[in-house]
Amino acid sequence: MSLWFVESASSGHKLEWKIRREVYSTQSAFQHIRVVETEQFGMALILDGIMQTTMGDEFIYHEMLAFVPLLSHPAPKRVLIIGGGDGGLSREVLKVPGVEHVVMVEIDPIVVDVAKRYFPHHTESLNDPRLHIVFEDGAAFLKSQAHTPEKFDVILVDSTDPEGDGPGQFLYTSAFHADVKNALNPGGIYVQHTGAPFYNPEVLGMVTEDVGKKFPLCQTYWATVPTYPGGIFTFTAGSLGPDLSQPIRALPCETQWYTPDIHRLAFALPPYLQNLIRTE
Ligand code: SAM
Repeated sequence: MSLWFVESASSGHKLEWKIRREVYSTQSAFQHIRVVETEQFGMALILDGIMQTTMGDEFIYHEMLAFVPLLSHPAPKRVLIIGGGDGGLSREVLKVPGVEHVVMVEIDPIVVDVAKRYFPHHTESLNDPRLHIVFEDGAAFLKSQAHTPEKFDVILVDSTDPEGDGPGQFLYTSAFHADVKNALNPGGIYVQHTGAPFYNPEVLGMVTEDVGKKFPLCQTYWATVPTYPGGIFTFTAGSLGPDLSQPIRALPCETQWYTPDIHRLAFALPPYLQNLIRTE
């Protein structure tokens, strides 16, 4: 008999994945954590019933979240990742020349343990001496940093979605965006994913409205990620200086998705997406 994982992308839509086996399942203090081996994309991490990352297409999300901001910034030395416990984002960030210090603030230590066990490709950089892992709520971490002089050049939020009552909800508030801005060096950049617009259009509107008020520049870009509902996935940036739509530095390593052309094209928004954005 076939096994299937069923994800509810919205109240009116379900996605089904044929799975070879369930590898791991537990309830942590923060969320339900599950690892399955899918027939289509290999190992996959599921948090609170939502597919987070799969071996088959993780490179798209991680490369686009890391390289678009980091290659638009003239000299990103200090990078903060909020969430990111599967390790895929820090792996890409650490490939960027000049990055000296990366802090990853992940709320759930079990996600990191599980990733180390079942996602060796994601976690291959977790022992890099430039990476410092802090187990704490990202919103609380930023509050506690309010008066520290060490700021960040780039802040990336690689969290679960804001919907529901999971820990990701604390990273989509106006207070959080204010703390992010305060934690950036002059000319700094922050990027957060703004979800799958066909199923959660309100996330893009909510984030752009707030970030557009707080940052001199608010920009949205997108990528196609087969794993996420509808295939189209959006990212929104708040910038204190750089225009993210133009890469200004090159990457001296191979990629599977990112190129300078893809970077520029990601900012070409169909009117459908433009209409969801609420900046003035
Ligand atoms: N790429 C995925 C996606 O968008 O579907 C998300 C990756 S998953 C690694 C997101 C991580 O964010 C989880 O490990 C989760 O524990 C963490 N997270 C959620 N809320 C958080 C918070 N408030 N502070 C820190 N980490 C958080």
